[in-house]
Amino acid sequence: MAFDFDGKFAVVTGASRGIGEAIARQLDRGGARVALVARSADRLEAVAAELVNDPLVITADLSEHESIEQILTAVLAAFDGLDILVNNAAVERNQPASKVTGAAIDETLFVNLRQAFMLCSAFAKPLFASNGAIVNVSSTAATGAGGTQGAYAASKGGLNTLTKNLANEWASKGVRVNGVAPGLVDTEMWESTFERLGEDAVRSGFAKRVPMDRWGTADEIADVACFLASNRSSYVTGQTIRVDGGMTNV
Ligand code: NAP
Repeated sequence: MAFDFDGKFAVVTGASRGIGEAIARQLDRGGARVALVARSADRLEAVAAELVNDPLVITADLSEHESIEQILTAVLAAFDGLDILVNNAAVERNQPASKVTGAAIDETLFVNLRQAFMLCSAFAKPLFASNGAIVNVSSTAATGAGGTQGAYAASKGGLNTLTKNLANEWASKGVRVNGVAPGLVDTEMWESTFERLGEDAVRSGFAKRVPMDRWGTADEIADVACFLASNRSSYVTGQTIRVDGGMTNV
């Protein structure tokens, strides 16, 4: 799906692979200049090499406090403002609640929620100036009961609440804030689950939970994220749209 992002400047966190990479590719295809943020420099460079609108690579670790200032400085040095911020980077530490570690809770809430909020705040001024759009990548885990995903689910529930709150706070500034909540999407995020429970069993067993009887693709999430980032959704704010093949309809 092609949306018009001609002349826009965008930041996508977690753009080195999976859903973030797909969003970055679609923004670029629509004409945006995209700043790709993640830890893996090689993979970011590989994605950037295939984009056509002079992308910016920012190798940053969002588990570090300083990464916010690092990203802000790099973006404002290279871009003439900011129109679109996509908070997509996330970690998932699957641990039973009886064995969860404080370190896992801290890292999950820090990267998935705290840093997403801090990036919104850091880029407030340029986003106000451009009447920009924020898209937060959430998860159906925020509203469903995945099991052994307490910290991850809480981080995404917090992100949904942040989306609504910021949408109302910044509506008068002309900034829209929305989210997309994927269900089962075939990306590397599932590798540890495949290793733990067996890839074939997880693929076919989990698909049975989905009325559409299949996993989604990163591009199917990117389609909705880019709709929310584009002016085709100009009267939509504070919404987190589930893209899950109907999995959480019941
Ligand atoms: P993924 O393949 O694991 O990608 C995660 C991305 O986040 C990578 O680009 C990773 O890059 C980056 N990242 C992780 N920790 C980081 C850190 N400390 N600093 C900077 N970047 C970091 O996962 P995905 O499936 O594409 O997930 C993307 C988003 O969709 C996440 O918000 C996830 O919660 C959400 N989601 C996914 C699914 C699914 O089924 N796949 C379902 C629901 C929601 P580096 O490792 O290079 O840093």
